[in-house]
Amino acid sequence: PSAMREYVVETTNTTFEDVGGLDEAKATLRESVIWPLSYENLFEATNTNPPTGILLYGPPGTGKTLLARAIAGESGVNFIHVAGPELIDKYVGESEKAVREVFDRARQTAPTIVFFDEVDAIAAARGGEQDVTERVVSQLLTELDGLASNPNLVVLAATNRYEAIDPALLRPGRFESHVEVPLPDEAARRLILSVHTEGKPLGEDIDLDELAAETEGYSGADLEALVRQASLFAIRALATDVGPEEANERADEIRISREHFEDARS
Ligand code: ATP
Repeated sequence: PSAMREYVVETTNTTFEDVGGLDEAKATLRESVIWPLSYENLFEATNTNPPTGILLYGPPGTGKTLLARAIAGESGVNFIHVAGPELIDKYVGESEKAVREVFDRARQTAPTIVFFDEVDAIAAARGGEQDVTERVVSQLLTELDGLASNPNLVVLAATNRYEAIDPALLRPGRFESHVEVPLPDEAARRLILSVHTEGKPLGEDIDLDELAAETEGYSGADLEALVRQASLFAIRALATDVGPEEANERADEIRISREHFEDARS
């Protein structure tokens, strides 16, 4: 009944430079993902398996997907993005089959990082009437258990609902490494603002330190949206001022100023 799903295998230029802050998360990922790929012999000499799966957890928009993609870019391996909810299929057996297909595809294209976004959709604790989840979790466990000896396949997953994940998935040999991806503090917001304002013509009245101090509670995604909104206000201001022909000619004069950021925040 269902069409064969296609899992897109990407390569990416995203790197850690595109991710503002999150130093601890980056360090953990470097050790868990890049080291096993780069120091293969050391792992072999010590008879040590690298961590099988890594779970990124934290509030929405804090950069979990971005980090997963960046680690693929940093290590130069393939990346497969799987949205958890898309794997859930009402036809009996289809969801487990989908999980199997993802891992088949990953094995065919290794070295590969597989990323399960919103993994709570498929990995919530079992025991309810959710037969589908029960079977999908079992399939995931089977795949993860079979993966231990394959350093060319790394499985990452992300969730906003850490407490909802089936504990069986969090044990050693499965998603054994748990990496928190928190809301950014002031210093991290400053770094994220730098990432997203790079190459943009900021007015002289813009002070990114000040902006970072004023955006308590903003996630990385919120900050990205803020910069985008302010840019749109700057465009609008010049466009309504003088009309298309002159506005285009004066494009190099456009500045995104404090006022535009204030409009964007209100
Ligand atoms: P969700 O839980 O909602 O899926 P997420 O944690 O996976 O969110 P992302 O999808 O990675 O968040 O973030 C959305 C966008 O917000 C990113 O593509 C990026 O542009 C921006 N962003 C988020 N966090 C950061 C960060 N730390 N540095 C730079 N940009 C960020």
